Amino acid sequence: MATPLRVLIHGGGIGGLTLATALARHGHTVEVAELRDELDALGVGIIQPSNALHVMREIGVLDDCLKAGFEWEVLTIADPAGNTLAEIPQPRMGDAPSNNGIPRPALAQVLGAAATSAGATIRFGTTITELSDDGEGVDVVLSDGSAGRWDLVVGFDGIGSPLRTRLYGDRYVPEYTGFANWRVTMPRQEQVRGVVMGTAGQAAKALLTPITDELMYLGAVFAESEDFRPDAEKAHEQLKERLAMFSGPVAEALAAVTGPEAVVYSRISQVTVEEPWHVGRVVLAGDAAHASTPHIAQGAAMAVEDALVLAESLEADADVAAALDTWEARRRPRAMWVQAMSRAVLKQETGGETTPEEDELLKVGIPGAAHVLVQPY
Ligand SMILES: Cc1cc2nc3c(=O)[nH]c(=O)nc-3n(C[C@H](O)[C@H](O)[C@H](O)COP(=O)(O)OP(=O)(O)OC[C@H]3O[C@@H](n4cnc5c(N)ncnc54)[C@H](O)[C@@H]3O)c2cc1C
Repeated sequence: MATPLRVLIHGGGIGGLTLATALARHGHTVEVAELRDELDALGVGIIQPSNALHVMREIGVLDDCLKAGFEWEVLTIADPAGNTLAEIPQPRMGDAPSNNGIPRPALAQVLGAAATSAGATIRFGTTITELSDDGEGVDVVLSDGSAGRWDLVVGFDGIGSPLRTRLYGDRYVPEYTGFANWRVTMPRQEQVRGVVMGTAGQAAKALLTPITDELMYLGAVFAESEDFRPDAEKAHEQLKERLAMFSGPVAEALAAVTGPEAVVYSRISQVTVEEPWHVGRVVLAGDAAHASTPHIAQGAAMAVEDALVLAESLEADADVAAALDTWEARRRPRAMWVQAMSRAVLKQETGGETTPEEDELLKVGIPGAAHVLVQPY
């Protein structure tokens, strides 16, 4: 094992907790400073594709994820009435399962428990207030008044990353794509045993995703002005208007949504840090470095891959700077590919003008992307 390091992770989301687990299992001293007061997450679901499940196996939580979620293998494309147009089996990475839908709060619980039992400490309601890197270590003051010196500070603090602003000023700010995602969690329909993508061409697309035996979520993306917010009293009616061209399972699912409170609305933004992702001994990873649109459901998968490869790189090279270079050389091309593919699919689905490079990516498409991403990285 490499010399044990003292690592502070800023952000205890999907990537941060995965890194905490991977590093603590290697014997490093790990603390996570998480702004929220407890381990919760937006009450919707998320898809863990096979490459993410491969990481979950590596950090020892695959079975817990599968137990808390709904494992599936076939992507179904359907017309607006729900008639099946195609059934596309999804690939596996090695012998990892193909896909798992899981409620985000359940995933947070699984990862938090894994990090803690591996020996990491999570400090809730805490953030970095002061940071100074002298090349040999990083002195940090946290908002709870504690201070410490760390060999490495990792910013897994999400798309709005305060650490990114600290490192790069306002050179990289999230850019709104002009589109937003509407999601509603609801009882799972018996026939929804994998993602069912109902498509009305460029007018709309609605996804039904199983996340437990009992639950699924309906997700749909629409062009929305940046300042639009759903009406607090009738968000469910606004979603129904947008999906009015659907009958069959989507309409049936929507009919069960009788109030606005279940509707979760998220604007879709993206950001890329073009400069190196580390400045001295402070490094950015996951959405903080490279947030994508969710069009191929790979953002969190990239975050957990970032985490695993960072732990591997620190294990392989005792020199932190060299390990960070190796890590970024492995991660940047793949994360950038996912970002470019996600953006190309967004444009394709919404009738946006694509570049020649995006046209090439679209020849690969969503099913092809899944095959690319189960290759070793
Ligand atoms: C609509 C939508 C659907 C998506 N669906 C999928 C999907 O199906 N599959 C998939 O793989 N990806 C999906 N994604 C992408 C995925 O959610 C993100 O890529 C993933 O959560 C990034 O992980 P992260 O750890 O980098 O950041 P996050 O999970 O965002 O975690 C960041 C953490 O940092 C904390 N934090 C923030 N500021 C501070 C601070 N100042 N101090 C301390 N802590 C702080 C936050 O509280 C949070 O816990 C989707 C995204 C969207 C918007």
